[in-house]
Amino acid sequence: MRIIPLFALLAAAALHAQPAAPRTPAQQTAREVLKELIGINTDHDSGSTTVAAQAVARRLLAAGIPAADVQIVGPAGSKNHNVIARIHGTGGAGGAPARKPILLLAHLDVVTARAADWTIPPYTLTEKDGFLYGRGTSDVKQGAAILLAAFIQMKRDGIAPDRDVILALTAGEESGGDYVGVEWLLKNRRDLIDAEWCWNVDGGDPQLQRGKRIARVIQASEKVYATYQLEATAAGGHSSLPTRDNPVYRLARALGRLDAYDFPVHLSEVTRGALSAAARNEPADVAADLTNIIGPTPDAAAARRLSARSPFYNAQLRTTCVATMLEGGHAENALPQRARATVNCRILPEEAAGDFVLNTLTTVVADPQVKVTVAYGAVPSPASPLRPEILRPLEAVTATFWTGVPLVPQMETGATDGAYLRNGGIPTYGIATVFMDVDDIRAHGRDERIIAKEFDTGADYAFALLKAFAPKK
Ligand SMILES: [Zn+2]
Repeated sequence: MRIIPLFALLAAAALHAQPAAPRTPAQQTAREVLKELIGINTDHDSGSTTVAAQAVARRLLAAGIPAADVQIVGPAGSKNHNVIARIHGTGGAGGAPARKPILLLAHLDVVTARAADWTIPPYTLTEKDGFLYGRGTSDVKQGAAILLAAFIQMKRDGIAPDRDVILALTAGEESGGDYVGVEWLLKNRRDLIDAEWCWNVDGGDPQLQRGKRIARVIQASEKVYATYQLEATAAGGHSSLPTRDNPVYRLARALGRLDAYDFPVHLSEVTRGALSAAARNEPADVAADLTNIIGPTPDAAAARRLSARSPFYNAQLRTTCVATMLEGGHAENALPQRARATVNCRILPEEAAGDFVLNTLTTVVADPQVKVTVAYGAVPSPASPLRPEILRPLEAVTATFWTGVPLVPQMETGATDGAYLRNGGIPTYGIATVFMDVDDIRAHGRDERIIAKEFDTGADYAFALLKAFAPKK
């Protein structure tokens, strides 16, 4: 057997290895920041976004942003503060006045990771097999790192934008109930984040499927969350002497009517765009239904078929309300005195104001002895208009990176901090920059990861987008 010297093997390996392209400055910074941010635990249980905010502030100061333009703010006593920074705009060409600022937004906090359930340590950035692993790699420290890198690069390159650019890396997005982030800033430090519009990277992920780039999503609206309670009561009594007036049956009949009911189809420019894009990837009969439903004479049968085909289509077409919890009765040998259901609704932004949903539920329940009340009220959040000022540069920059990838507007059926900003009068667009594999979404889950080379390209793409949204004088 011939012994091959080790150095010969190494030389052969080197020949076959892909020569690694040198990283651009934006990529280099984004990588360094991501490593640092993943290494700082910012979960709600034992973490602190203040520690991450301080790390971000050090980098901003080192890049030459004046201390007066870097603020760490949040409620007194909280370990979860926000970092806000600003690059001042100089106005447009030919002495045109500066436009209103744009706000770049990502959250620093993450959902708690149970290390025991992971195959690698969650709070350490690990690169393996072409992926970047760690809690927050997908939601949304990759976006925070990329926005910070673009912001720093704008400063380092001496680019004087035509408008102020504000960077806000925030707390309290994932925690639920601990409103120390965007909601707090709007109430207490609106001056720091007030902008013409917000570019939020926590939404609108560009999508890959089976290696193919299928969509450059722009999230322009969100459904509005609200919860209602249905309650029936009666005098009760001994279970050996049943009466017709049983709250369990009464509530069950009301829920049956709710189950059979569909809210009316109501489309917006955002959902029309989303359904029209979806038609491209569907078989002919489904595409025909999609085309019909967004057309001038929508057909109820087409809407029924689409709703039956996919919960996603159903949720795009209408407000939805669904029973999620039930309770009733108090003893196995007593007639129930009370029965109660929790109904969670995801309301189209155009239907969230006023009592439309409450009134509709009351009508559908159709029983004055089943009381319908609001358990958690809607915070209305209007859709953000799809303005050419945003779409044109987005389309142009996207085309220079990936030809033929369609721009697809989206109404999110979940919720992000964008809802508070829209509600506060700052139109918000979810435009994440790292392509995500739609069949490998691990946000909030175990072994969270993203594709390493998509992260690197996403950093360059974000810097190009920033220069397009806030061009130099
Ligand atoms: Zn998020």
